[in-house]
Amino acid sequence: MTLRPDGFVHASGPVRVVFGRGALASVSEEVERLGMRRALVLTTPRQSGEGEDLLKGLGPLAVGVFSRATMHTPVEVTEEAVSILKELDADGIVALGGGSTTGLGKAIAARTGVPQVVVATTYAGSEVTPVLGETQDGVKRTRSGPEILPETVIYDPSLTDGLPVPASVSSGLNAMAHALEGLYARDRSPIFRLFAVEGLRAFRDSLPVLQQEPHNVSARDRALYAAWLCGTVLGGVGMSLHHKLCHTLGGALDLPHAETHAIVLPHTMAYLATEASEELTSAVELFGNPLGGALHDFASSLQAPLRLADLGVQESDLDGVADLALRSPYWSPKPLERDGIRRLLHDAWAGNRPTN
Ligand code: NAD
Repeated sequence: MTLRPDGFVHASGPVRVVFGRGALASVSEEVERLGMRRALVLTTPRQSGEGEDLLKGLGPLAVGVFSRATMHTPVEVTEEAVSILKELDADGIVALGGGSTTGLGKAIAARTGVPQVVVATTYAGSEVTPVLGETQDGVKRTRSGPEILPETVIYDPSLTDGLPVPASVSSGLNAMAHALEGLYARDRSPIFRLFAVEGLRAFRDSLPVLQQEPHNVSARDRALYAAWLCGTVLGGVGMSLHHKLCHTLGGALDLPHAETHAIVLPHTMAYLATEASEELTSAVELFGNPLGGALHDFASSLQAPLRLADLGVQESDLDGVADLALRSPYWSPKPLERDGIRRLLHDAWAGNRPTN
């Protein structure tokens, strides 16, 4: 199909969203709605206490908690969880947590077909995308499909009230990257643009408040609302240069996901600023001109990480990352040239303020 200028195709996944303070109370109703009778609750080790509470709250509708969800969805952990699901004769998943726990739920659903309810507690946005990244033998592979998309998402902002400020900021910047890439994606649509701009505005307004007042209830509500919008954009459009570089850095150097996105974002926007200037106009209106510099200042005001060097990346790693990223690039509005990408990576490594 050859559409554009400026025709489009718009398709959005059929996720049911329950949003609001106290929404967690609807979890049994949502589990039953999907026909589950024996749900398995998933969490990370850090959130196992909340998982046990959820198990109790679900009463006869749940049969156990698996609390070993891990960043980057290692296949060994998924296989262990699938065998526990089978042992317990569980018929569905309730994943409570951020992108790591959601990733485990998606990986189980992809293998078994069981339905998923996600109770999202960070701003990562994975809960509304049909995308799954899994790690095996040190390599992270991404795939997408309708069987991966969770059926129901519960957003209860009270569960994010205790999300530490650094995690809130990095995870919020990670979600902003979804929306920004949605603005210039090859398969962008006017509806996703509305979602992206509204999500970016809500993060622009809420993250600075959270940085100062982590328990500010209306800022917490607004940030989770923004996360839903930005995640939905990522669920509907193809990723581009920014996600490619972050996946390459994360996979090759085992870097923390949200922080890597937070650091790289101003630099990818600066790299694309000229070629995607029309598509990025609304982002410039929200954050300032030039966009890369303005996003750097925004991140800096939030005390977000700014330097890949601070994540342990060595300058000598950058050539290899540039080569890897160029080996199988995602579509980009600007052709990728080796020198420009290497410079971008150096700027992100050193924490330079972009001039574009
Ligand atoms: P995370 O899920 O790894 O959470 C980080 C830590 O914070 C964990 O220990 C978790 O238990 C804890 N935590 C979560 N919510 C909390 C809360 N409210 N209060 C206190 N602690 C809390 O981090 P993340 O950034 O949400 O997710 C990162 C993962 O998600 C990566 O593996 C990434 O690849 C994946 N991801 C996938 C997609 C997708 O569409 N497939 C999108 C974004 C992220």
